Amino acid sequence: MADNRMAGKRAGITLKKQLVAKAGSYGARLVGFAPAERWAEYNEMPASYFPQHVFPHTRTVIVLALPVFIPMLDTTPSIVYSELYATLNRLLDEMACKLALHLNNKGFRAVFFPRDGYGDISVLIDKPQAAFSHVFAGKYAGLGTIGYNHTLLTREYGPRVRLVSVFTDAEIEPDAVCEKDLCIKCLLCKRCCPTSAFTSAGSLIAEMDKRKCAEYHAELKSKYSYPCGVCIKVCPVGEDRSLYGMNKGKYLKEKNLKEKNSLANPEEYADWIHIRNHGTKK
Ligand code: SF4
Ligand code: SF4
Repeated sequence: MADNRMAGKRAGITLKKQLVAKAGSYGARLVGFAPAERWAEYNEMPASYFPQHVFPHTRTVIVLALPVFIPMLDTTPSIVYSELYATLNRLLDEMACKLALHLNNKGFRAVFFPRDGYGDISVLIDKPQAAFSHVFAGKYAGLGTIGYNHTLLTREYGPRVRLVSVFTDAEIEPDAVCEKDLCIKCLLCKRCCPTSAFTSAGSLIAEMDKRKCAEYHAELKSKYSYPCGVCIKVCPVGEDRSLYGMNKGKYLKEKNLKEKNSLANPEEYADWIHIRNHGTKK
């Protein structure tokens, strides 16, 4: 019996190595593995949102991530960030689909949950959650921790990651959940949010007015400059900051200047304004 368990564990480790290499060859930058039981262990949502409920064969959820380039995100709301968002979403679904097919070829049942789970932003105004949360899946797969701003913060890219999940009946060696909270509670996300959607300062994860956020997104979508992304743009966490830097003052001033309609300092904001002046409606 013990020999069988060891053999099963070894097979799980070998399969994991193959899948990490495969996902890497498709372009995934982060890959994590969560056993389906972790959802019940942490018990942070109704059971109907657990992966075994969403796709009943599930024993492992594989979470894939792609980074959001800071300089493109900095221009938000803009057509440049809007197109980046669409490109990353397309790539993620493609990678997840290919990985599920690869698992099928190996004889495992596998499907994927697309990176977004709603038809249009107008749906989120009344019902702001999808049928499955990639953010919690990323946490249970050891990719990071959930920040004050409700996003998954990773060591590598802070909250600047887009996620997708593959569900399989393969039993794969799980990754450990990150014990150290990556959010430093600086509250920059709260201070810079254009709709002031985060309403608490004391809690680990903010109280959030999701309707306000969704309504703002609907407005941005009508101008072709969806989504917002300010709460991930300003977050100082992430090794990507050592590549691109962090201009906290520029982020902090932007909201005030916008509110006063005087975001016109050519020295400091000229690059973002130039992009924002093209390709979207005012
Ligand atoms: S996406 Fe924008 S509006 Fe929504 S919470 Fe984040 S900063 Fe605020
Ligand atoms: S901006 Fe600060 S408070 Fe907000 S998620 Fe990042 S580290 Fe946490």
